[in-house]
Amino acid sequence: MFTIDLPTWFLSVLLAPFGLILGSFGNVLIHRLPQEEKADRNVVTKPSHCPSCKTPIRWFHNVPLLSWLWLRGKCAACGWRIPVRYPLVECLTGALLAGSVWILPFGTLIWIKGVLCGYALIVLFFTDLTEFMLPDAIQFPLMALGVLFTLPQLIAGQHLTRITTTGWNFLEVFTFANGVQQAPAWSLTGPVVEWQGSLLGLTVGYGVPALLNQAYKWIRKTDGLGMGDFKMLAWLGAFWGWAPMVGILFGGALLGSAVGLPLMLLRKASGQTMLPFGCALALATPVVVFYGPALLSAYLGLMQ
Ligand SMILES: [Zn+2]
Repeated sequence: MFTIDLPTWFLSVLLAPFGLILGSFGNVLIHRLPQEEKADRNVVTKPSHCPSCKTPIRWFHNVPLLSWLWLRGKCAACGWRIPVRYPLVECLTGALLAGSVWILPFGTLIWIKGVLCGYALIVLFFTDLTEFMLPDAIQFPLMALGVLFTLPQLIAGQHLTRITTTGWNFLEVFTFANGVQQAPAWSLTGPVVEWQGSLLGLTVGYGVPALLNQAYKWIRKTDGLGMGDFKMLAWLGAFWGWAPMVGILFGGALLGSAVGLPLMLLRKASGQTMLPFGCALALATPVVVFYGPALLSAYLGLMQ
């Protein structure tokens, strides 16, 4: 049996540059996916270019983080000030990959799931913040992936679950098959996300907010939440199950009100002003996934 026996700090250092590169691609996704023209949404074959002057970026000006520092945050051709978002997304993704191995066992399915979810949240946070948009091109595949991630557990079942004590190795891709490992188990739904919970999360993620939104639209005669928010809840539900998904919705709403209400009081925003709710959902997700059960029991304790 092949086992990974590298010190965590070593894995962390090894993964950081990959995170920076992934973050660099994240910037491409954030810039291109919300574009109106289909040709502008091409994130695969179109080479990197300056968003301002369209000059192709040479490879040595396209090194994550270092080039931004070297060029002092300006385009080499036209001097356009490159938004701080670019190095920020690279650093965040670098930290995501470097930090992931401290929280989740490297190489397991739950690790892949956690990293993928974190990466998607970084990208969606910034598309929503800058363009008020949560691209379908990201969210629909994530819905499918969330459900697919439950399949190894389904296929392997009891047989592989018995070998969980052998240490961190690739076989645990199956044994650690799914669920919130290394994080407090969701006692409501069990320690793993099974296909039923995943599908339920997907359905409820769309269904419940769609109904609320319908009611809101009827009462306030506005569009309410954007459809992108439902899709985001749907894939988060498919990833983490229905209960964490409801927690994320609750946490996001709480955060949204915490930012929105003071803004409204300051008359900088009316009830009609659009706030990027996807950003609130993205911020709430890690808190709920890792600390949700603890927060819930603390809350229930307060109620008694
Ligand atoms: Zn330029």
